[in-house]
Amino acid sequence: MADDSVIRRLEELRELIRRYDYHYYVLAEPLVSDYNYDTLNNELLSIEKQFPELITPESPSQRVGSSLTKDFPAYKHRFPMLSLSNTYSEAEIYDFDRKVRDLLPQQMQPEYIVEYKIDGVSISITYENGLFVRAVTRGDGETGEDVSANIKTIYSVPLRLNDSLLQEYGLQTFEVRGEIYMEPEDFNKLNSERVGRGEKTFANPRNFSAGTIKLQDPRIVAARPLKIFVYYLLSDTAKLQSQSENLALLKKLGFRVNPDTVICGSIAEVVEACKKIEEKRYSLPYEIDGAVIKVNSIEQQKLLGSIAKAPRWAVACKFKAKEAITRLHAITWQVGRTGAITPVAELEPVFLAGSTISRATLHNYDEIVRKNIRTGASVTIEKGGDVIPKVTGIVEDEYFASSKPVVLPETCPVCGANIFKPDGEVAIYCENSACPEQVKGRIEHFASRTAMDIEGLGEALVAQLVDSHLIETYADIYELHTKTDALIGLERFGKKSALNLIAAIEESKKQPFYKVLFALGIRYVGIGVARKLAMHFGNVEALSAATVEQISSVYEIGDSISESVVAFFTDTHNKELIERLKNYGLCFIAEVQKVDDGFFKDKSFVLTGALTKFTREDATEMIIRFGGRASSSVSKKTHYVVAGENAGSKLAKALELGITVLNEDEFLEKIRDYQ
Ligand code: NAD
Repeated sequence: MADDSVIRRLEELRELIRRYDYHYYVLAEPLVSDYNYDTLNNELLSIEKQFPELITPESPSQRVGSSLTKDFPAYKHRFPMLSLSNTYSEAEIYDFDRKVRDLLPQQMQPEYIVEYKIDGVSISITYENGLFVRAVTRGDGETGEDVSANIKTIYSVPLRLNDSLLQEYGLQTFEVRGEIYMEPEDFNKLNSERVGRGEKTFANPRNFSAGTIKLQDPRIVAARPLKIFVYYLLSDTAKLQSQSENLALLKKLGFRVNPDTVICGSIAEVVEACKKIEEKRYSLPYEIDGAVIKVNSIEQQKLLGSIAKAPRWAVACKFKAKEAITRLHAITWQVGRTGAITPVAELEPVFLAGSTISRATLHNYDEIVRKNIRTGASVTIEKGGDVIPKVTGIVEDEYFASSKPVVLPETCPVCGANIFKPDGEVAIYCENSACPEQVKGRIEHFASRTAMDIEGLGEALVAQLVDSHLIETYADIYELHTKTDALIGLERFGKKSALNLIAAIEESKKQPFYKVLFALGIRYVGIGVARKLAMHFGNVEALSAATVEQISSVYEIGDSISESVVAFFTDTHNKELIERLKNYGLCFIAEVQKVDDGFFKDKSFVLTGALTKFTREDATEMIIRFGGRASSSVSKKTHYVVAGENAGSKLAKALELGITVLNEDEFLEKIRDYQ
């Protein structure tokens, strides 16, 4: 019998995985790396293996990750489109072989075929009498979305096939499965154009492809260079003996088939083949995230069959986080808005996971010492689920002997001021608050989306404005309307951009008090803390007159925050800045709502599941603004649970305790009553 802690962990894992699936499959914006995701998934599988009575049909282990939306007609697959089980080590590949041999009759020796695992989006295309009739996404494995119009725009997808070949192989209605992908070079180009236009960018080519095939306008899809590799033909009539024959037939029919496959007589050869593929990984013009090992004989494949969401005759051998080795030329020291000086690795440019990397982060000097990172040496760099690469270690190759230890700067590398290291902190700081880099950092933060949200005022423009002495503090932003001529004179800045900027600055005056408070850039005051302080003190006068003790008494506000807030408001320069901002019309008073007897007044809310109609942050803000509390765990004291898609244990607990559950629409209705 599983004890409570196992059941709790199981629920926790299921809830996390559902959430990650939603972000990965539906939004194409993963929250964690594949390696992290697979580690959690394996933990779930091993608990379910130990306690099979706990497996429920809704467990993520029983379903192929779903990407169904309401935007395309649903289509039920004739044969389910399964996923693949994953292996991350040699031992797991040997395990796979053992299971295959255990399940096959004794006299049958498996032969394997190893293929590239193309990192894209799977698709099923149906042909009838030689003509393309339909292309459907994998969806939840049973039902997918009909995205035919989009797939038809891909040149390498044939719309009509050679009649005589079809007759030769007895093919009438059949399905072809493959992977749609985008080459990193095309991805980089398109993504940087999006940066230029200020549009949302994609983290990697896979996400870009996933996002593209779900677009409503096939003309936009046609303009994006999607490609396909197909790897399977499914038909009731074709008599094929093996996966290799299957691939050969697809090629003959005119499909794009990846030519790099290896036939292996033993599992040791398979392991070798996988290693070779991993070595080739970064020299290919497209991305692969592993190799797929398949039992070659179709008869054996049929004997082996499938488990809930993956065939037993194939397995993916996945690569770990994306890693590369390159030379570390130098360390530059970057000064942030708080004055913290952080090391940045300047690297010999190397192509890694879809982009060329020439800089990577190293968090602080202690980390450099701990990892023995030396300039001139070779280092390993890694890209996880995120896009910012980091230096993970040193390689003791031929460059190591001549490499040099990294020296901590003695003065600020930007302004030459003294450096200090506060007790108990690992970071070093530049003492001079007028240091140009600190100034730029503070202004950038002030204008950023979560703060004053001044569109167009990003890193490059802030640097131009500060370097040309048009602004020196964030308060100066609100004088820019008197300097339009100078603005228009800036490089790559026309009249239209200047007018747009002035309008965006004017618009920012509508931002609520807590955002203004966050924008001021007080150390340790993130957006959540700013919201609490604004709600508690109500206006800037009360907050700036408060003592450390009074601020610390606010729920979840600790001493370092309180001390930092008091220090900020005692500084004469900061006082002057705030006075000026008030005069420009920025909001320094928290919005007071009438909450006398409202629905939210003094009620405790818990948000759970994937919320699609509003962000968690916005919902929390509303609840607090209308007099309620937002809490993270469900207890008897909870009044309402707002449940989004795929809600798990919190919803279950709410139902058990008889707490009222609102769906997203019901919650929105309550909000609307207030507005
Ligand atoms: P998968 O991508 O690991 O493997 C199955 C897919 O591989 C098939 O559906 C097919 O589309 C593709 N494929 C590519 N080349 C192939 C070939 N030659 N032969 C056969 N198939 C080939 O599985 P999945 O179900 O698409 O995704 C699950 C994986 O996605 C997880 O293991 C995890 O690594 C990742 N994931 C990550 C997150 C995250 O938040 N980071 C969330 C969900 C899933």
